[in-house]
Amino acid sequence: MIQLNKTDNSFDGIHLFSGGLDSLISYFVLKDLGFNPLPIYFETPFFSSEKAKDIAEKNGIKLSVENVFNDYLSILKKPVYGYGKNLNPCIDCKAFMINKAIDIAIKEGLKYVSTGEVFNQRPMSQTFQGMKKIEKLLKRKDLLVRPLSGEILKGKLETNTIFKDKKLLSIEGRKREIQFKLAKKYNIKYFSSPSGGCLLTYKEYSEKIRILLDSNIKDERYFKMVKHCRLIKFNNSLAFIGRDKEDNEVLISLSKRDNVYQITDRKGPVGIFLGDDEKDFQNFLKKMLFYSKRDTTLPHLIEKIGDGA
Ligand code: SF4
Repeated sequence: MIQLNKTDNSFDGIHLFSGGLDSLISYFVLKDLGFNPLPIYFETPFFSSEKAKDIAEKNGIKLSVENVFNDYLSILKKPVYGYGKNLNPCIDCKAFMINKAIDIAIKEGLKYVSTGEVFNQRPMSQTFQGMKKIEKLLKRKDLLVRPLSGEILKGKLETNTIFKDKKLLSIEGRKREIQFKLAKKYNIKYFSSPSGGCLLTYKEYSEKIRILLDSNIKDERYFKMVKHCRLIKFNNSLAFIGRDKEDNEVLISLSKRDNVYQITDRKGPVGIFLGDDEKDFQNFLKKMLFYSKRDTTLPHLIEKIGDGA
């Protein structure tokens, strides 16, 4: 968990920073009101921190990043409020992030946790019903503040009392005119464009993640790998097979104690075999040859280039 050192003692709250315009404005609104939030990004392989780090730096913001993959896995396996279109557990995910920030706030004696959420901007987690559901999952709902829609939400949801007499904003819905005006006011030139969501909102990626979850895989490396390769499920084993040179390089760089194979007598993929079933292994070798477009009837050369050492 992030720990504030002695020189950080001017922070009074935690701000969940995404790098998007709403989250930036929300941060500057709090600063305008005289607060001093610590911006934090919680990362997993499903949402990397790269963009947020870049945007924070360009806007002169010092961002703290914490990897929360291990804890996130448990909500991804069994979200209380289920999934969106694919494997995105948006309600549970938001509550999880806020709870992570609440943990730090409680530990460090800070007064609030803020987000850049805008009421009714997105389906699922930003509707009134969605926010109510999130509230139910929170460890301390009285710490939360959503500065961009705070005025609308006062009286509807539990409000952090330190903002009771502060004038928060009343932004609602998908239109972004107000945000663009505020971006000018706060001289925000760099922000990431709104996206449909993290990698878990993508069908193909979600299908691979489902296979990893069903196979009880817990090592983060494999969740990173599947962004860069084919994932094949055999009866009792899994195989990760690169699709091109870049994929192959990523697989090699992420492999540690894995059994890594490569076609060496012609261009072909790198493959990682996870399992000890001999029949599955023979099928894996066939797949490797298939993806190298090699004539499978000819003798071939597949070398083991990583042996778990
Ligand atoms: S889109 Fe992804 S990161 Fe965003 S709330 Fe949903 S699951 Fe979480």
